[in-house]
Amino acid sequence: MTAVPTGMTTAPTADLHLHTTFSDGTETPERVLEMVQQAGLSAVAMTDHDTVDGMARSAAAAAARGIELIPGIEMSSCSRQGIEVHLLGFFFDLEHPALTRHLAEQKARRVERVHETVKRLQRVGVTIRAEEVLQLAGEGTVGRPHVARVLLKHGYISTFSEAFSRYIGTNNPGFVPGSPLSPAHVIGVLRAAGGIPVLAHPIYLKCDPLIDELVQDGLLGLEVYHACHPPETVRHYERIADRLKLLKTGGSDFHGDVKEGQPIGSVKIPYALVEALKQWKTTSVS
Ligand code: AMP
Ligand code: ZN
Ligand code: FE
Ligand code: FE
Repeated sequence: MTAVPTGMTTAPTADLHLHTTFSDGTETPERVLEMVQQAGLSAVAMTDHDTVDGMARSAAAAAARGIELIPGIEMSSCSRQGIEVHLLGFFFDLEHPALTRHLAEQKARRVERVHETVKRLQRVGVTIRAEEVLQLAGEGTVGRPHVARVLLKHGYISTFSEAFSRYIGTNNPGFVPGSPLSPAHVIGVLRAAGGIPVLAHPIYLKCDPLIDELVQDGLLGLEVYHACHPPETVRHYERIADRLKLLKTGGSDFHGDVKEGQPIGSVKIPYALVEALKQWKTTSVS
């Protein structure tokens, strides 16, 4: 699953998909950067869900450790087919007005969604309080993992992933879609902010024709390397990225101790892929 061997290499590497307490990760930006340094990575992108609120703290912690921080985000959208599509964005203007507006709306929508989720869970005999979920999320964007942690705490489930197979996964009784907005819309917001939109973890979509559609909508990259992509899957998406002339990115999708098997350092992409993103920025501006 590792893009390059972790052993003796001294060539610079990057992880372009990490979550912190500013969304559904369990570790603070400072702790994540400490772990990033221990893993020997040179560059990272924090990609919290629908927020850039953690970026200032990440930037300070990264600077103190001599690690390059790339502006990043993971944005939710929903395709025509009802498939949840996550779009990573890199190298965008953090203060772009249309993006700022979009993120404020999405943050509020996520709070509404928790109230709706709690209502739906009540109908199947699960009684948790929305306030407890929102409190757990704190200042970060709230998401289903916060609901899962409350379900776990109150004994409705015995493992974190059970929340997604019984209660809040797609087609479960407590499922509420994350965003009504199309991938095309989100790609447009990111491009307007000067960002590079990249389709996250394509393995979760299981719908390759959708990638072609997203390219028509302005998609520029594919997350070829991911902790959940075994080697044959990586080769599969490398071929698709080459065919569609997409930039290639990758990362661990680290969330802390709630998600097993995706530690920091589990995916290390060559720094040359970061340079390719920068190159795209340079040539697109001129
Ligand atoms: P949300 O943005 O609120 O829809 O939540 C999406 C997040 O939930 C993902 O980024 C994962 O962290 C987590 N998630 C989704 N499906 C699963 C699953 N089957 N098992 C564990 N975590 C999941
Ligand atoms: Zn997440
Ligand atoms: Fe995701
Ligand atoms: Fe993610």
